Amino acid sequence: MSSFKAVLIRQPEAGEATSVGFETLEDADLMEGDVTVRVERSTVNYKDGLAITGKAPVVRRFPMVPGVDGAGMVEQSASPLFKVGDRVLLNGWGVGETHLGAYAERARWKSDWLLPLPAGFSPDEAMAIGTAGYTAMLAVMALERHDIHAGAGPVLVTGAAGGVGSIAVALLAGLGYHVVASTGRAEEAGYLKDLGAAEVIERASLAGPPKPLAKERFIGAIDAVGGPTLANVLSMIRYGGAVAACGMAGGLDLPGSVAPFILRGVALYGIDSVYAPKSVRLAAWERLDRDLDRVKLASAMRRIPFDDVIDAARDIIEGKVRGRLVVEIG
Ligand code: NDP
Repeated sequence: MSSFKAVLIRQPEAGEATSVGFETLEDADLMEGDVTVRVERSTVNYKDGLAITGKAPVVRRFPMVPGVDGAGMVEQSASPLFKVGDRVLLNGWGVGETHLGAYAERARWKSDWLLPLPAGFSPDEAMAIGTAGYTAMLAVMALERHDIHAGAGPVLVTGAAGGVGSIAVALLAGLGYHVVASTGRAEEAGYLKDLGAAEVIERASLAGPPKPLAKERFIGAIDAVGGPTLANVLSMIRYGGAVAACGMAGGLDLPGSVAPFILRGVALYGIDSVYAPKSVRLAAWERLDRDLDRVKLASAMRRIPFDDVIDAARDIIEGKVRGRLVVEIG
């Protein structure tokens, strides 16, 4: 196969609106890398939605194939790390932003970016987890390092019916935490309880003007929303607790107060999945293999055909996607 199908984002001139559609590319269009991969599965993350809608400037090279996550089979390798036929996994590293991404039947990536597909996961399961789920795991690990263990008190997850949120709820519940899930979609309360949430709260209760300090409710939180939600969450963390901040679905700003930090010793951990070192990724995927309930993962996942990926990317920005989507590329 020298020509292959891909989603391409184009920008006619710098600063102009972008366009997106399916195109046929040639091998010569691929960028540098020592491993060529036949992409089998991808997924739709919030960032893919930002790239495809052009709502935020995540794409920094045009034309661009979006898709920050991929799972597939090695077709060619100049690296001693991988051989033809190996199954590999890619999350982040600027793929879909500065280097051609996974919404293509073929991709060429750097071997340093690839992990062997973890033995415990099929390509579908690895993409049902994807960057969103691996980020949820990094956030759980940050809370654990702060000694927030199951039984320490309620832990809040915001944006709970989304990708990061769904996997965070399933992981925390599986580890025995009392999980409070915040959602703007009341109709998803049953879904969140099935994932293991002990309580489901209305996201509006975290969206008002933040007070410097509010009633101490949670020992920890995983926040996928940012903005006033994160400021409110911080104000509600119990003495000595912590928040792992990983998202901005509700805004990039942080309109809060230092009061939770200096009066309650609250900690705020930043979570970045894109450039996390390989050792951290391997540890996170090992933990996912050990701690993520596969039945819950299946309940949070829906498969879509490659042809539907552009519409799905628009839907995720509108908050219409529940859990995780797996894109069947090839
Ligand atoms: P999703 O769209 O699947 O989930 C986001 C959820 O946030 C929505 O489902 C919704 O949950 C809630 N939400 C959406 N808009 C708003 C709003 N305006 N106000 C309050 N809540 C809102 O996205 P992902 O789970 O894939 O990603 C979540 C966030 O995490 C994104 O900002 C993404 O960029 C970020 N991210 C960061 C990573 C990192 O490395 N730091 C890696 C992966 C993701 P509900 O309907 O339940 O209220």
